[in-house]
Amino acid sequence: MGSSFRPAFGHLFEKQINSTKKKDINKARQAKEAVDYLLEGNLQSAKWLGYEFQGKRSYRKGKVRVVFAHCEECRKLDHEEHNGCEECDSNGDDTLRFFAFGDRDEIYDILSSHQVWRG
Ligand SMILES: [Zn+2]
Repeated sequence: MGSSFRPAFGHLFEKQINSTKKKDINKARQAKEAVDYLLEGNLQSAKWLGYEFQGKRSYRKGKVRVVFAHCEECRKLDHEEHNGCEECDSNGDDTLRFFAFGDRDEIYDILSSHQVWRG
C-alpha cells in the first residue's frame, strides 16, 4: 500500500467526466477507477510523457489513459513551466493534478488542442 493523495481536477477533466457519463458510462467508470487507483498512491505504473507533454504522467486503465501530474515531483523536477503551475503553491505536495483522459487515439489530440496545462 502506498500513501494517499488528494485530487485537483482541471476544468477540462471535469467537463470530460460529465459528458462521458452520458455518452459512455463504462469509459467514465474506467477513468474514475484510474483516478482512485492513483490517489491510493499507486504511481509506479504511470508512464512519463515526453516532448510537448513533458512533466505529465499517463496511467492506463482498460482503454482509457488518464494524464496527471504529482505536485511534489513537479516541483522537485522543475516541471512547473510545462504544467502551468501558477497556482501550484496552493496545492500540497500530496496533490495529483488531473488534466484529461481519453483513448490512445484521442488523448494526445485532446492534450495539445486544449493546452490543458494552461488551466
Ligand atoms: Zn506543479
